[in-house]
Amino acid sequence: MNARTGTVTLVGGGPGDPELLTVAAVRALAKADVVLFDRLAPHETLAELAPRARLIDVGKRPGHHPIPQDEIERILVAHALEGAEVVRLKGGDPFVFGRGGEEVEACRRAGVPVRVIPGVTSAISVPAAAGIPVTHRNTSRMFTVVSGHAPLSPAELEHLAGLGGTIVILMGITNLPSITAGLARFGMDPGMPVAVIEQGYSSRQRSTFGSLSTILTESVRAGVGSPAVVVIGEVVRLARGGDADAAAALSDAATVTGP
Ligand code: SAH
Repeated sequence: MNARTGTVTLVGGGPGDPELLTVAAVRALAKADVVLFDRLAPHETLAELAPRARLIDVGKRPGHHPIPQDEIERILVAHALEGAEVVRLKGGDPFVFGRGGEEVEACRRAGVPVRVIPGVTSAISVPAAAGIPVTHRNTSRMFTVVSGHAPLSPAELEHLAGLGGTIVILMGITNLPSITAGLARFGMDPGMPVAVIEQGYSSRQRSTFGSLSTILTESVRAGVGSPAVVVIGEVVRLARGGDADAAAALSDAATVTGP
């Protein structure tokens, strides 16, 4: 039994491109003994980023349940109690629909020191990859981030329809029919622009555009699938035409420095 207790660091990995890891995230990975990572976290370059670490895939695919949440928490705590520096690498930001809060509580209950490194959330960055700013002067001065994982209640749909500003829905593809129908029923303009952006920051990134009344047909026609971010609001009109590969655009941006 190791005398020294290790630590758990929850790391927000951003929307998938390793360029969008924070400096703190890269440092934590470089020091890690064990890394538990998700499907949506940037994992293709993990062997380089965390050269000392044992890598454990706890990724969840829709319809499959490889490792339940309480088991993930048990693994995190067990390694830390053995003295390991454990990184829990999550997609986007750990506290945006990432169950990060539950993992922090599990560590505290076990007496394991835990810290959180925030990440670039897909709620803002994936719209940006399609050229959509979630706020824009004189167009939208608020944005609301909603989980579409479970169906929204009539009260929630009514509030959302009346809010104004931009609505960003994560995990919203399965329930897109009931969400768009509900918003229309509670008075949202059927012409309100809507975008669905799949697989942001990958070479498979794709945006599908429509309005509240047409996006369902457009999505079915395009064969839209998860992971995708749905954006509803006037800001969608600001999207640039077509999908540049956001990952390539990022590295271009990074190289446009110097003389
Ligand atoms: N904590 C994450 C969100 C976890 S919920 C964050 O802050 O981004 C998972 C949902 O995030 C997916 O169903 C999808 O709606 C969205 N998502 C995450 N990464 C994405 C990506 N690269 N492209 C499109 N959607 C993404």
